[in-house]
Amino acid sequence: MKRIAVIAHDGMKAEMVAFVKDHSALFSNSKLFATGTTGQYVQQAGLTVKKLLSGPKGGDAQIASMVAEGKLDAVIFFRDALGKHPHEPDVQMLLRLCDLHNVALATNPSTAKLLVLGLEAQMANE
Ligand code: PGA
Repeated sequence: MKRIAVIAHDGMKAEMVAFVKDHSALFSNSKLFATGTTGQYVQQAGLTVKKLLSGPKGGDAQIASMVAEGKLDAVIFFRDALGKHPHEPDVQMLLRLCDLHNVALATNPSTAKLLVLGLEAQMANE
C-alpha cells in the first residue's frame, strides 16, 4: 500500500477536496495522512485519513519527520503561493527533506495529477 500525505494551505483546501474526490480510488487504497484541518476536509469527503497536528501547530513538521524516517512514499502539498504563513520554516523543511530523501513531492494540482497517475501505474504493476 502506498503511504501518501496530503496538505493544503487554506486558499487551496477546496481544490484539495475536489482532487481527493477525483482520485478516491487511489486514495482509498492507500494509507493516507494529512495535516489536521486538511484531514478534516478529506474525512468529510468520505476517505479514511490519519490526521496529524494542524500545519501551523507542527503538522508539516510531523510529515517532514515521517519523510526523514522513510515512512512516506509521496507528499501532495497544495501550497497557496500568494499567502503568508507563520510556519514557513516548517514548510521549507518538509520540501528539503522530500528532496534529500527522494520522496515524490507535488506542490500544485497539475503535478499532483501526474504523480497520482504514476502511483496508479506502480500499483497496477505490484
Ligand atoms: P492544515 O495545515 O491542514 O492544518 O490547515 C496545512 C498547512 O497550513 O500547512
